[in-house]
Amino acid sequence: MRKKTQLIHGGIMGDEQTGAVTVPIYQVSTYKQEAVGKHKGYEYSRTGNPTRFALEELIKEIEGGVAGFAFGSGMAAITAVIMLFDAGDHVILTDDVYGGTYRVMTKVLNRFKIESTFVDTSDIENVKNALKPNTKAVYIETPTNPLLKITDIEAVAKWAKDQGLLTIVDNTFSTPYWQNPIRLDADIVLHSATKYLGGHSDVVAGLVVVNDQKLAEDLHFVQNSTGGILGPQDSWLLIRGIKTLGVRMEEHEENTSRIVAFLNEHPNVKKVYYPGLETHPHHDIAKKQATGFGGMVSFDVGSGEKADQLLAKVKYFTLAESLGAVESLISVPAKMTHASIPADRRQELGITDGLIRISVGLEDAEDLIEDLKQALED
Ligand SMILES: *Cc1c(COP(=O)(O)O)cnc(C)c1O
Repeated sequence: MRKKTQLIHGGIMGDEQTGAVTVPIYQVSTYKQEAVGKHKGYEYSRTGNPTRFALEELIKEIEGGVAGFAFGSGMAAITAVIMLFDAGDHVILTDDVYGGTYRVMTKVLNRFKIESTFVDTSDIENVKNALKPNTKAVYIETPTNPLLKITDIEAVAKWAKDQGLLTIVDNTFSTPYWQNPIRLDADIVLHSATKYLGGHSDVVAGLVVVNDQKLAEDLHFVQNSTGGILGPQDSWLLIRGIKTLGVRMEEHEENTSRIVAFLNEHPNVKKVYYPGLETHPHHDIAKKQATGFGGMVSFDVGSGEKADQLLAKVKYFTLAESLGAVESLISVPAKMTHASIPADRRQELGITDGLIRISVGLEDAEDLIEDLKQALED
């Protein structure tokens, strides 16, 4: 099965009983048992729900893993994955991870003695140097948010395996349509499904896929014990979103490459960050491990003032956090998504006040370019 076919025919198709071509929304909490413990595979919807299961089977198949898990948000998914570890364990993470990931590691999970070290994982030497006797995993986000840095998943995963560490990849930006970390030897792949997988700015969700049975059992135990599950209605919305992931990603890519070409030539744009640019320092790795470069672009207009001016002028780019939806979104990471990262650390990372991030939507590329053009005028 090829990719777009799998997005539509993967997982559980429709409903056997009625012939309905989509999986019904099983809005139910509990299930009748024939006798104590004798049931049809479902007992209670925190443990398992048929609509959620259909989604979990679908993401499992499209990421090429052993089991899938759906959570109430990307952060719930990330937190559950980190709960696979014990107090005293250490995790090495990408330095410009999603702000919420940084926050949960340094303000919440640290209280349970999960240690973390943040390094620029785009250089594997930094990962190697961060290794400690209690290190249990490497957690990478690639491409990163908002600087679109790329980490070589296969190289890190191979090294990690040799050290007995798990490799966890946040695949939100690339989506399984362009990149499958498990096929590159990662152990766990996770998503904020709120973004491209849902694709329509109407659901908050997180998905995880693991590559072995033991991890599957352990994560199901955490999911069922801590309870951060996705409800049936949202599971159904995600299944619906995933069906069109292929066509959406192709179109996001096309629009993005045209916008990048425009920005790259513009005199008022100081720098463009996009892995599809040949001048991007990790362009070759991006090309090797993913089949597309994605719809996220960041560019620097030089100052917070210039950024504010541009934001005030754009018509088709909605000022909002989040990304990956049909409508184009624009944000200033330093003041929005990455505000939870301390100011000095943001400077260190290159997340300047003039840095603008756009999530290119599915409007006509001509309209988007005209809009940016008028907004960039002095
Ligand atoms: C949004 C996001 C998250 C968090 O997901 P939520 O669904 O908002 O909880 C994690 N990682 C990345 C890369 C994200 O963009």
